[in-house]
Amino acid sequence: MVLSNTRTSSFSENTVEGRIFGGNDQLPKTLAKKLGKKIIYNRPLQRLDHDSKGVTLSIKENQRLVKISAKKCVLAIPATILKDIEISPGFSPEKTNCINNQQYGHAMKIAMQYGKRFWDDKNSIGQRVFTDTPLRRVYHFSIDQPGPKGILLSFTSGEDAIKLGRLDNNRRLEAARRACTNIWAQTANFWEKGIVKYWNEDPWVKASYSFAGVGQKGFRETLAKPEGSVYFAGEHTAIQRASMNGAIESGLRAAEEIKKTAT
Ligand SMILES: Cc1cc2nc3c(=O)[nH]c(=O)nc-3n(C[C@H](O)[C@H](O)[C@H](O)COP(=O)(O)OP(=O)(O)OC[C@H]3O[C@@H](n4cnc5c(N)ncnc54)[C@H](O)[C@@H]3O)c2cc1C
Repeated sequence: MVLSNTRTSSFSENTVEGRIFGGNDQLPKTLAKKLGKKIIYNRPLQRLDHDSKGVTLSIKENQRLVKISAKKCVLAIPATILKDIEISPGFSPEKTNCINNQQYGHAMKIAMQYGKRFWDDKNSIGQRVFTDTPLRRVYHFSIDQPGPKGILLSFTSGEDAIKLGRLDNNRRLEAARRACTNIWAQTANFWEKGIVKYWNEDPWVKASYSFAGVGQKGFRETLAKPEGSVYFAGEHTAIQRASMNGAIESGLRAAEEIKKTAT
């Protein structure tokens, strides 16, 4: 079954509100530019030692551990990663339980480039469809870019993402191409290439975003609570969890908490 909720997708008609033109990555990149060399990349935290006086972070740099000391730190790492980091002394039992058990979703996006925007053709079902194929929702993703080529994006999640996640990338793309042919019969004529991103296999997040699982009422508040010199941020600690604004909200909250201890 396929449901379509919009038909048109021409370049000029779709200056859509609520999007950052040119891509959302411009948001963190702009923030990063202001911080300059204060940000160090590709140095995963491996161990955290902490007491009331401060913290020592052991980070992996070129296969060796380097220590950084500070009076306080904010951990904005997803719980999926945090649970494997050595913490000494361990956090409170309540916090540790939430870190170990916080539920996260599965999400995969498959971008498919076609030589023609056939979804705009007169008798087409349209360019934003909701299906019971493994692709779930599929929509025109190059809507802000001029044609004639175009990109369809599948944003699939839950069981369907898990099932596709068991396949290698070629087979994921093959499954996506097949599913698209069931939605728009002419897709096979215009296929060019595709790319897959499965967040649950990304070593820096190992999940999509958090959700309150059964029995997890109050997890968010516990995950957000400071422990001595260590503060916590990230969407999993935010009221508006699973969103970019939630991540920002949590950063502002952690900054306020630190500011209060400084006065
Ligand atoms: C498929 C998908 C679609 C989404 N769509 C939307 C949307 O339309 N709108 C919206 O608002 N939100 C959306 N979100 C949610 C949004 O992207 C997240 O909620 C937000 O990015 C989370 O920010 P964060 O800072 O908590 O976590 P992240 O952005 O994951 O940041 C965590 C950071 O920790 C770092 N890290 C990991 N391990 C270590 C380590 N060992 N040492 C040091 N650093 C480490 C990572 O590199 C990363 O920089 C979507 C998410 C997904 C996955």
